[in-house]
Amino acid sequence: MPLLTAENLQKTYVTGEARVTALAGVSFAVEKGDFVALMGPSGCGKSTLLHLCGAMDRASSGTIRLNDRDLSDLGDDELTRVRREQVGFVFQFFNLLPTLTVADNIALPCLLAGMKDQDAERRARALAERVGIAHRLTHYPQQISGGEMQRAAIARALIHQPALLVADEPTGNLDSENGANVLNLIAGLNRELNVTVLLATHAADVAAAATRILKMKDGKFE
Ligand code: ADP
Repeated sequence: MPLLTAENLQKTYVTGEARVTALAGVSFAVEKGDFVALMGPSGCGKSTLLHLCGAMDRASSGTIRLNDRDLSDLGDDELTRVRREQVGFVFQFFNLLPTLTVADNIALPCLLAGMKDQDAERRARALAERVGIAHRLTHYPQQISGGEMQRAAIARALIHQPALLVADEPTGNLDSENGANVLNLIAGLNRELNVTVLLATHAADVAAAATRILKMKDGKFE
């Protein structure tokens, strides 16, 4: 059974009089352990699709199933629970909280889920070591580099052991060397932890790390 399936997914944003069709009927399946790269020009609907797959937003029509649950059937609270328990997110601009240390940023999803401080800290330290930022745990985000911030964000996204890692342009704000390192890191974690990865990008070399590439244009797969 695939981890994720979408059938004829459509999304239209309505702002006042304006209607923008961001997804015009998308169907696909992602198997457990896959690393899927979504590629396509800015505005083609990549982020919209990631948001729907990550239970951050609802489709206008069509169905999306994550771990065999139809997300369109879920109420807001249930959708939030699916997102918190089963999905990890990595963003282009890292989205670390500036008032928390790197250690606390990484541990936060576990602390919010009610895990004991010590256990969350232990997990945060182990992941920080794996992503190569153990020496930055007591720093604040503004004291570390962009590449380190993204490593911390990746650790935060994985600390609750989600089934799905959703990454929206994770290298878009990094130089090419740091971008390549972050990509290799995600590919390594995909294999080691068997976490399924769905990643959007428009950088061609980024897709080399993926096991599968899906090209999008005008809200559809090409
Ligand atoms: P990509 O990630 O490929 O750049 P997006 O999914 O962000 O594409 O956007 C697809 C289309 O939907 C674009 O035309 C964009 O302007 C529009 N769009 C995205 N989010 C919103 C929103 N919240 N409200 C209105 N229009 C939106």
